[in-house]
Amino acid sequence: MSDKDYRKMYDKIFKIMGDYTPLRVDCGQLCGGACCKGDSETGMLLFPHEESELPITVGASGERLAVCNGTCDRAKRPLACRIFPFFPTVDENGKVFVEPDLRAARLCPLIEHSEEIEFDPKFFKAVKKVGKILAKDDACKEFLEKITSEIDMFGEFLGE
Ligand code: SF4
Ligand code: SF4
Repeated sequence: MSDKDYRKMYDKIFKIMGDYTPLRVDCGQLCGGACCKGDSETGMLLFPHEESELPITVGASGERLAVCNGTCDRAKRPLACRIFPFFPTVDENGKVFVEPDLRAARLCPLIEHSEEIEFDPKFFKAVKKVGKILAKDDACKEFLEKITSEIDMFGEFLGE
């Protein structure tokens, strides 16, 4: 796909996510906004060809990270922030699921208490739809597969 096609794809994805969040209320009150406490050394991993108006840094393995100072214009937050703390995982047949992103298990109370919490089903529907769009593109599918295996590894480590 061309850069223009990717831009269109992410515009569509951001529209699908809209203002949905895992809870209908601001979960930042539960944890003091723990997932927004990054610094200039850390950042949110950008999806393949995802652009950002936030500053971008390149990590040790060449990954592109959007960096913020703990506050942002919500309209400019990257996809990783919009779907956090869940992720559209894929299985070996390319089927998309929405699972807790166990890489954030220590950080986000929503993961630890996921059994007791009433989430907004519209959020999950949107993340799944987004996952299906991403899985149609080779580079994005590869990215979903890579993160899925990282999440699985964290799951094994955490004994889940
Ligand atoms: S760490 Fe989890 S509970 Fe806290 S603001 Fe982020 S998503 Fe919400
Ligand atoms: S970009 Fe915004 S939503 Fe994402 S971590 Fe930074 S402050 Fe939080």
